[in-house]
Amino acid sequence: MSVNILFAAHATRWADYETPLRNALNDTGLDYRLATDLPADSVDYIIYAPNSEVQDFTPFTRLKAVLNLWAGVEDAVGNPTLTVPFARMVDDAGLTQGMVEWVTGHALRHHLGMDAHIVNPDHQWSAKAPPVSADRPVGILGLGELGTACGQALSRLGFPVTGWSRTAKSVDGITCLHGADGLRETLRNSQIVILLLPDTPATQNTLNAETLALLPHGAFVLNPGRGPLIDDSALLDALDSGQVAHATLDVFRTEPLPRDHPFWSHPSVTVTPHIASQTRPPSAARAVVENIRRSEAGEPLLHLVDRDAGY
Ligand code: NAP
Repeated sequence: MSVNILFAAHATRWADYETPLRNALNDTGLDYRLATDLPADSVDYIIYAPNSEVQDFTPFTRLKAVLNLWAGVEDAVGNPTLTVPFARMVDDAGLTQGMVEWVTGHALRHHLGMDAHIVNPDHQWSAKAPPVSADRPVGILGLGELGTACGQALSRLGFPVTGWSRTAKSVDGITCLHGADGLRETLRNSQIVILLLPDTPATQNTLNAETLALLPHGAFVLNPGRGPLIDDSALLDALDSGQVAHATLDVFRTEPLPRDHPFWSHPSVTVTPHIASQTRPPSAARAVVENIRRSEAGEPLLHLVDRDAGY
């Protein structure tokens, strides 16, 4: 009997994903049907994005798993009709590599003070001493797939890196802390702080007036995680006082960022339009199909979402 796979992401994504998915599925040797439209009661797997038209999973009576094309699951994890195993996207060659590039690029921009020479309309020859080495402590909030890869990349460049997670961890090249005390210690030591936490009730407003005040004066904030991790008005106050020297933000509470949001016009804020990293169809398709192969072989699925933790 064939394995029936419904592609239920935004309609525009089918053209990008169909061939990579078929290539990966053909390599498994499975007898399969892959389509954007199948009778609900025939579907075994749904390849999913939370902005899909599928929001009620009740009609999918023989569903074995839902495989998310996104790393973030906050828009689907609370869906009461999604009761089968739910895996999120981990795509080392695509999503993770892209995030490492965005994070190291923006961290180095601030570390090296690149703007002084890139934006120099008066053609000033003002040789400020460059930093002697990468001896600038970095804190990564969230030590999952992305935070770990970014922290290790910065550590290899020579930055002292502290990472903070919910549970205790041990990662080569990173000083690992957890819990409320761990957050305070991480922030006190972070001249650059990078947010790579998921959006859950426990992580919202992780950076607020109280925690921003713990940072060394003149710290830099990078947020490629999720908008609700930061209290926007507390960050604007910290930028105005110089407590935070610059914030580079990729994600926002409302996206697209409203045209009248003060982040757009603040001289110490860089806005990037949620482009820090994206799944890349060839490697993302292989990641999704590997889980279908595992499920059909009776092996445990990779990267299952913990519904209680919310990520
Ligand atoms: P992940 O592997 O699930 O890692 C999440 C990390 O956050 C884990 O280390 C986890 O701790 C930690 N964490 C969760 N709740 C916490 C809490 N209450 N206190 C302290 N630490 C907590 O996720 P990922 O793949 O690295 O992705 C991280 C986030 O990046 C995604 O959720 C998504 O929002 C965002 N993202 C953004 C883009 C973009 O383009 N801007 C692209 C992809 C992803 P434990 O290790 O103890 O579980």
